Amino acid sequence: MKAIGVLTSGGDAPGMNAAIRAVVRSGIYNNIKIMGIQRGYNGLINGDIKEMDLSSVADIIHRGGTMLKTARSEEFRTEEGRKKALNVLKVFGIEGLVVIGGDGSFAGAGMLSEAGIKTIGIPGTIDNDLAYTDYTIGFDTTVNTVLDAISKIRDTSTSHGRASIVEVMGRHCGDIALYAGLAGGAESIIVPEESFEIDEVCKKLIQGRSRGKLHSIIMLSEGVGNAFELGKEIEDVTGIETKVTVLGHIQRGGNPSAFDRILASKMGAYAVELLMKGQSSSVIGMKHNQLMDMDIHEALAVEKKFDKDMYALTKILSI
Ligand code: ATP
Repeated sequence: MKAIGVLTSGGDAPGMNAAIRAVVRSGIYNNIKIMGIQRGYNGLINGDIKEMDLSSVADIIHRGGTMLKTARSEEFRTEEGRKKALNVLKVFGIEGLVVIGGDGSFAGAGMLSEAGIKTIGIPGTIDNDLAYTDYTIGFDTTVNTVLDAISKIRDTSTSHGRASIVEVMGRHCGDIALYAGLAGGAESIIVPEESFEIDEVCKKLIQGRSRGKLHSIIMLSEGVGNAFELGKEIEDVTGIETKVTVLGHIQRGGNPSAFDRILASKMGAYAVELLMKGQSSSVIGMKHNQLMDMDIHEALAVEKKFDKDMYALTKILSI
């Protein structure tokens, strides 16, 4: 293989830069040209591509975001758009492509592989919503960002004797709320995967107060319900002042954690290794602390399982 392209696509995630760096450095180490594609599939369609050298990825391992930029490309969803992309790949002599992104980006990569381009996907999404892998790049950093926010919110909640609802990202996946909630000692965790009773949340608040607790943290995954309406309801039932913090895009940024940098570095190098072996239409994951790879379509068909044991543990530990 003479030339490999690399792009980031979909939502950005801390650690994507470390993955790009690993692809570039291990590619060059193996005498392969690495072409950086800007703004995801849009850059592929428009030929926004530059060869990368060793120093083009210097000083990025610790930075959040993605130096290649990212995008959601409507044009790539069309047959015509993908034809343009395939033509650009041919013109630039790119035989293999590393796509760093989430399930949508992988679906796109699968289509390119059917058209003869060797593709490897690396899971880069803060949501941890890809079922075939235990962890995705960016998730650990986001959990730590949320944890840091919880600590700060807890300080002020305690001073005022308030309850706090902290709304976090994750779309249909409650992992961010679950992991940050367990690590942050949240009293209640509300996620899309599990039904919840408002009475149970209120009962916990009242019980906590009666044993002298001055603060309460309620983790809420986005999309489960309106955080402000929930806060009002809790306040009406319990009489405890309840504030809402929607963490928003702060969860996407920041320096990647050591875990994410290591995960990204291993996955980036493994992607190059797989392409050198001629493998295609695969995605890389981490299962039981071991790097693994799997067919893209099979990986996308794996159903995400919510960690019910961990959820049950949060209930026990927050009595
Ligand atoms: P995140 O989980 O962070 O949202 P993602 O990769 O799932 O990341 P999407 O917006 O779903 O993000 O997908 C990124 C891009 O991949 C889309 O803008 C589109 O160009 C391409 N894509 C998504 N789904 C398909 C599909 N079914 N066929 C072809 N291309 C697709």
